[in-house]
Amino acid sequence: MDKKTAIAIDGPAGAGKSTIARMLAEKLGIVYIDTGAMYRAVALEAVRRGIDTKDRKKLEEMVREVDISIKLTGQGQAVFLGKENVNHLIRTPEISIGSSNVAAVPEVRKKMVELQREIAGTNSIVMDGRDIGTRVIPDAGLKIFLTASVEERAKRRYKELNEAGNTSVTLQEVEDDIRYRDLNDMTRDCDPLRPADDAKILDTTGIPVEQVVELIMEELYKLMED
Ligand code: C5P
Repeated sequence: MDKKTAIAIDGPAGAGKSTIARMLAEKLGIVYIDTGAMYRAVALEAVRRGIDTKDRKKLEEMVREVDISIKLTGQGQAVFLGKENVNHLIRTPEISIGSSNVAAVPEVRKKMVELQREIAGTNSIVMDGRDIGTRVIPDAGLKIFLTASVEERAKRRYKELNEAGNTSVTLQEVEDDIRYRDLNDMTRDCDPLRPADDAKILDTTGIPVEQVVELIMEELYKLMED
């Protein structure tokens, strides 16, 4: 593929974005970037500083000085706060809710979008998030919007968390988290979650991830033929 190919994958929590984007990037031999990890790192920093993740004013001040970066390692992406790799600290229920709260703050989004655009400007990428097709890379070569029923998304996320060793959370808690974030992410004023006008919308309810990846590959082939 050309240098700086960009594939944007957006959608609500638990729609399978990260698994599908990672598989796609592997197939194409390009970099996978999970932008949600950056908002999660902002939330972690806020919690560490004792800042309420809904306190816009304090978050605006904090985000000006906080040093967030993404490093690409052999094992994939790692998100850093200063020199500390915080990948293993950002998947808790508290940080999930907090990330959705901090993501509603325009100053936070502005800084994250700048960082994401820098990465997209220097790498061929599959990038997943909520605003990749609408804001971060509006000229992405391919835009996909993944959806699935809330129940299915909760089950998938619950399984993922369990497999990653997080057994303290219940399915109901995961579903509540997803419903909270769906509403928050879709109704915020700044870059709410929505499909780009030119995105291909895929409802993945009941479809195995491998099949979704194949569907996206077909979209890519179509584009190459045009
Ligand atoms: O993708 P993930 O579930 O890790 O994202 C955590 C939160 O970060 C989301 O609920 C959303 O509020 C926010 N987010 C966002 N824009 C992105 C990526 C994530 O607002 N591009």
